[in-house]
Amino acid sequence: MVRFENVAKRYGALTVLDNLNLEIARNEKVSIIGPSGSGKTTVLRMLMTLERINGGVIWVDAEPLTHMEKKGQLVPASDRHLRRVRGKIGMVFQHFNLFPHMTALQNCMEAPVSVLGLTKQEAEGRAVDLLNLVGLSDKKNHFPIQLSGGQKQRVAIARALAMRPKVMLFDEVTSALDPELVGEVLNVIRKLGAEHDLTMLMVTHQMGFAKEFSDRVCFFDGGKIVEQGPPEQLFGSPQNARTRQFLNAVL
Ligand code: ATP
Repeated sequence: MVRFENVAKRYGALTVLDNLNLEIARNEKVSIIGPSGSGKTTVLRMLMTLERINGGVIWVDAEPLTHMEKKGQLVPASDRHLRRVRGKIGMVFQHFNLFPHMTALQNCMEAPVSVLGLTKQEAEGRAVDLLNLVGLSDKKNHFPIQLSGGQKQRVAIARALAMRPKVMLFDEVTSALDPELVGEVLNVIRKLGAEHDLTMLMVTHQMGFAKEFSDRVCFFDGGKIVEQGPPEQLFGSPQNARTRQFLNAVL
């Protein structure tokens, strides 16, 4: 469903991702863990086309995202192509990024109306169903400032789902929450994973959740995948000394 092929990302002289190769199957749940600055968030931002890559190709659903095919050759994608393929991806951010002047319902309706061309009535039906799914039907007319952090994050999840993505990206979505609010957000993600046909890629510092939820965990360091495998293997018997050192420090 998602494939990074020799993807490179640099900021000036700093190489943030170094020939990254990563393939994620349809419906697979993959967690990315690793030290601060190792390039985890950059992986998600490139997939969301918030950043241009400096080398390689990213594929989504068997289509190039960063490039388009012209006369059998891959050429850099036009903005129109990027927008279309990016529509298959939804992202939830650490700091919610809700529109402050819109209610929970309006937040979930905005892009389906303006980007997908749904009628207001269609978008509202979809938004109501999704707010119900994340357990917030009673808060649909609340503005972000009237919601707790956990509630805001659940609205952000509903808003991303309103675009019917095939791939969901979660970037440290519990890091800005008070500890007692983390569980409600993780429960929603658990439910999505169990009940929906969604490929999920998650950057997280919640090792317990990564272990329980993921089909595969990738340990990043210095812009590379140092080690990856099923959670029981990566957490239970890490092969690489750097992975062991990181896990000893955080567990
Ligand atoms: P954390 O766990 O702290 O969020 P991370 O593994 O997600 O870290 P990234 O946010 O992907 O790391 O950043 C990787 C490196 O790229 C860091 O050294 C960061 O300072 C650098 N970086 C990220 N964005 C930019 C930018 N827009 N301009 C310059 N450098 C950047």
